[in-house]
Amino acid sequence: MVRTFRTRLIISFTALAALVLMVSFGAVWLATSQQSERTLERELEVSERVFNELMDVRAQQLQQTAEVLTTDFGFREAIASKDQNTIISALVNHGERIGTDLMVLQSPVGEEIAATHAMSWQPQSLGSQRVSAQLMLVEESIFQVVSVPVMAPDLIAWATLGFEVDDEFATLMRQLTHADITFINDSSRAIYATSLPAQARQKIASEATELPTLFASLNLATHSSALADLPIAATEDSNMLLVFSADRQEAASEFRTLQQQYLIIALAILVVAVLLAVFTARMISSPVAQLTRSAKRLGQGDYSSPITLTRNDEFGALGHAFEQMRQGISAREQQIVYQLEHDILTGLPNRNSLQQELASRLKKQQRGHVVLVNIARFREVNDRFGQLVGDELLHAVAERLRDNCGSHWWLSRLAGDEFVLLSHKQSETSLKNLLTQLQAALSQPFWLAETSYLLEFHAGYLAFPNVGDDADSLLRRAQICARFAKQQKQFAVVYQQGMDEQHLRRIQIVQALPSAVRENRLQLHFQPKLRCTDGAVIGVEALLRWRDDALGVVRPDEFIPLAEQTGEINRLTRWVCMAAFDQLQLWHEQGRQLSVAINLSAVDLQWDELVAFLTEGAQQRGIPCHLVTLEVTESAVMLDPEQAIMRLQELRDSGFKIALDDYGTGYASLGQLKRLPVDELKLDRAFIQDIVHSDVDMAIVRSTLALAHQLGLATVAEGIEEQAAWHLLRDLRCDTMQGFYFSRPLAAPQFEQWLVDYQANEQLVQKENQ
Ligand code: C2E
Ligand code: CA
Ligand code: CA
Repeated sequence: MVRTFRTRLIISFTALAALVLMVSFGAVWLATSQQSERTLERELEVSERVFNELMDVRAQQLQQTAEVLTTDFGFREAIASKDQNTIISALVNHGERIGTDLMVLQSPVGEEIAATHAMSWQPQSLGSQRVSAQLMLVEESIFQVVSVPVMAPDLIAWATLGFEVDDEFATLMRQLTHADITFINDSSRAIYATSLPAQARQKIASEATELPTLFASLNLATHSSALADLPIAATEDSNMLLVFSADRQEAASEFRTLQQQYLIIALAILVVAVLLAVFTARMISSPVAQLTRSAKRLGQGDYSSPITLTRNDEFGALGHAFEQMRQGISAREQQIVYQLEHDILTGLPNRNSLQQELASRLKKQQRGHVVLVNIARFREVNDRFGQLVGDELLHAVAERLRDNCGSHWWLSRLAGDEFVLLSHKQSETSLKNLLTQLQAALSQPFWLAETSYLLEFHAGYLAFPNVGDDADSLLRRAQICARFAKQQKQFAVVYQQGMDEQHLRRIQIVQALPSAVRENRLQLHFQPKLRCTDGAVIGVEALLRWRDDALGVVRPDEFIPLAEQTGEINRLTRWVCMAAFDQLQLWHEQGRQLSVAINLSAVDLQWDELVAFLTEGAQQRGIPCHLVTLEVTESAVMLDPEQAIMRLQELRDSGFKIALDDYGTGYASLGQLKRLPVDELKLDRAFIQDIVHSDVDMAIVRSTLALAHQLGLATVAEGIEEQAAWHLLRDLRCDTMQGFYFSRPLAAPQFEQWLVDYQANEQLVQKENQ
């Protein structure tokens, strides 16, 4: 198979040229051959004519001589006197003049008077008429003879003169006409005269093949006539033929040179055509080959070498298009590579790059630190301010990190709100410096279009390769640390053994929680709330309890934040509210006029249906709203004060009481506190638990209570663990209290029992006091 276009082009070009030349050569060859044949035919016809004319000339010669002879007086007398000697000498004399070969003198009745040859022919059969030249066979030879009567005045004799038609004559003919002449008897193959060479002559004489075929086999063109048909012939024998023949080869020879010349020219043209084809093919194929090489290079991903095809034709244009394509691909590839390795938003190296970088450092057995910085609740930021602000904030965060990490740290963006810094060596000082610097820098608000945004950051860090030997587990552990930092409300937490297990437990909790809610495997416990002045039980705080078969007891501190993160919290809150309402309804029916406090999380405040849901729930069970307190932590309110204020106001308008839980741990300023639609402040147990022994806590609680009263808020203290604390708080004019000193949170039946016991005890004390 011919594979290259170039070879195909050369072959077809050459084949075409060869075909054209072959056809035209064939035409020339045919034409010249036909021409040669026609020329031969004409030559032979001319030969015949020349032969006839020659015969005529010779006949006239013979006739003149014969006439001179017969008018010779002495000769006539010699005949009359039968003077044999004179007759013969006269015959010889006259005959020699023209070189006759045959001389016969016959009596009027045909008797031979004198003769060179024995002639059986009877001239007297012609009468006294003269006989012009004719051919006749005499003694196995052909002669052209002329017979004339000798008159004195009567016919006294017939004189016959003749030339022999022999090889010599044939040769003469050949010299005159260029054609061979052959007298032959077709049946006996006796050759009487011929100019043909001995070899041909022998072949003709010896072979029985038909004459035309035989001559043709000798490459002779023939024109033959039966001698009998000739006007000059005296023989009746139709087997006697006169054959004119000409050598085809000889005739063709002049055409042969023409053909040869044509062939040479054709070959020359063919060579030129081949050269031209090679040249053209190269002219076409070399740019194609060049472009093919370039395309292959592009295919192998080499976009660096430019494609230069400096031509003004279509190939040049194609090359130019190729070059443009290369530039386009190259630019796009660079862009793709950049995008593969970088985060579009911040321009920082992305997760891919980070993983590669970390993996390569681990492979080189380098040491260093991984610091992962996470923006807390960034999803909320996005939800509240929109994606655009979120993006701008991310950009600003990236910039701030870049500005503060210094050249020892390699900064990248791991995911949406996670940034990772890698240090080039393991230096504790450098790590400490970075964390201090970042904490300070990130606690400053971010300004976007004259609005300030305060974001919360948490960091997890660890040293490698100590803590893990693959990039993925290092990053995962840093993420776990950052989550711990958030849980523990610290800026940065270092990785410690066991964090993985805790993390795993958290994952299991997240997985198990939805079914626990669905299948009612949660429980509500109730902790009594008492009036400080007299210790009367006025209500309960509902607290969630979950005991899972696989996970054991799961504390609300553990699963509530997770439920907030996964969005499960909404279902959880609904469950808690319904369960609390049901219980309250039951107690009311039993005549226990208790109030209930329900904990809401920050996420619940964003739920638009919240107010309707609670109002309906309470109404259905005939629970007056003012017996329901909704506890919201200070930090939940501070996350989005505007939204929280709006929602709390709605709830309050519906009649519910609002308590600000864990007060003192968040950062609510006095001004903000004033604006918040709350009914009571619930002091965090951190200030209460040790109040009896800590002057500082005491001072804080005292001023907080004073402030609350100033603002017209009721106060609740949680975490009363000893009687002294109760009394202290009572003296500080705190309104309500709860704590282990009175009771831990209990399931409803146990709570009811406790209540019975407590009230009985209370009465006892009162009696004692009385
Ligand atoms: P909290 O709202 O501050 O709830 C009071 C927590 O203090 C309860 O922990 C309670 O058992 C504990 N406590 C009460 N008295 C004392 C005491 O004298 N000493 C000490 N050391 N602790 C005391 P608990 O039940 O483990 O709940 C922890 C937190 O989980 C709650 O803090 C609350 O924020 C959250 N939580 C519990 N139930 C729910 C719920 O139904 N919904 C929501 N959103 N959060 C809940
Ligand atoms: Ca609470
Ligand atoms: Ca609390």
